[in-house]
Amino acid sequence: QREKYLEGNFMQAYELIIKKNTARKQALTDALTGLPNRYALLKRLEAFKGVVPEKMFVMMLDVDNFKKLNDQYGHPFGDKVLRAFSQLIQVSLREVDIGARIGGEEFVLILADTQLEAAHGVCQRMADKWRLTQFDEAPNLSFTVSIGITEYRSPEAVDEVIERADGLLYDAKNSGRNCIVIEQQDMQVSLDFEA
Ligand code: GH3
Ligand code: MG
Ligand code: MG
Repeated sequence: QREKYLEGNFMQAYELIIKKNTARKQALTDALTGLPNRYALLKRLEAFKGVVPEKMFVMMLDVDNFKKLNDQYGHPFGDKVLRAFSQLIQVSLREVDIGARIGGEEFVLILADTQLEAAHGVCQRMADKWRLTQFDEAPNLSFTVSIGITEYRSPEAVDEVIERADGLLYDAKNSGRNCIVIEQQDMQVSLDFEA
């Protein structure tokens, strides 16, 4: 009887752990794309505080003219496009990198222990692939993305680096979209993606 009781107890505790882990995972995951969500991103960024890797780049990406696409082809197609973009992010990053969906068609990437050239290269290749993406529902549609890249300046606050990346993304939108704006040591460079 005692053994049965202990076994029951064990199973209960075990199920509780599973439930807790599932809930935790759900809280950190974006339901549409399966990417880490904004909350997960902030947690990961906070965890770097004090032990920031030697060089870390934060980039903010925003799909161009997404509202028009939604209006023209419908919301479910918009969702499909967002999942495709998320997949592109996933295959473009290393295991140690972070790629999160922080809002509608906005994403943040964090590349640690990376040089600017490599971070820029990742963005360039992603933008190139994104431009070549095709969907049966909209055969002639072409896709572009705007990107802001900035370096994490230890030990600055998480909000600060996100805000700076957002500002650079804003500049990229203002310079006509389909481009990347990089800020390094207070110098800002705007680079157009190949058309
Ligand atoms: P810009 O080039 O300046 O970024 O323009 P935009 O149209 O991409 O950006 P805007 O912010 O005007 O529109 C974003 C749209 O994304 C509006 C919103 O309805 C849509 N959206 C947000 N979340 C989702 C989602 O989960 N699924 C779909 N299908 N659409 C979404
Ligand atoms: Mg957009
Ligand atoms: Mg947006």
